[in-house]
Amino acid sequence: MSEECIFCKIARKEIEIEVIFESDNFVAFPDANPCSKGHTLIIPKKHFVNYLDLPAVLGSELLDVIKKVAEIQLREGAEGFNIIVNNGKEAGQVVMHSHTHLIPRRKGEKARVSFPCAN
Ligand code: AMP
Ligand code: ZN
Repeated sequence: MSEECIFCKIARKEIEIEVIFESDNFVAFPDANPCSKGHTLIIPKKHFVNYLDLPAVLGSELLDVIKKVAEIQLREGAEGFNIIVNNGKEAGQVVMHSHTHLIPRRKGEKARVSFPCAN
């Protein structure tokens, strides 16, 4: 399947990216269309469609990578961060390779982040 998948190509380093952080099973890199400065995506190196597909055994490693990336964002001036995961087309998932958005937030800075249930 994963031959055509853009994030599989990124995971295999066939597309050049800035690696922000890397672990055995995950890689973090900048989102090409950032919602705020420093918006980062964390992807599993293997192709999983979404969180339902992601083996639970990778959960603690993913949380560890989330914390590592968040620490980098906080060191670079963020005061908080949003973790957003879109699962399924109807939930806004466009790239069908599981990914976790980490969106750094700074006081007074506008970010393109919205919460459907707040409306
Ligand atoms: P989602 O709506 O959760 O599927 O989000 C997909 C995200 O992937 C979007 O924020 C895109 O900007 C980002 N994206 C798509 N292609 C690339 C790429 N080649 N490099 C970096 N980010 C990408
Ligand atoms: Zn993939």
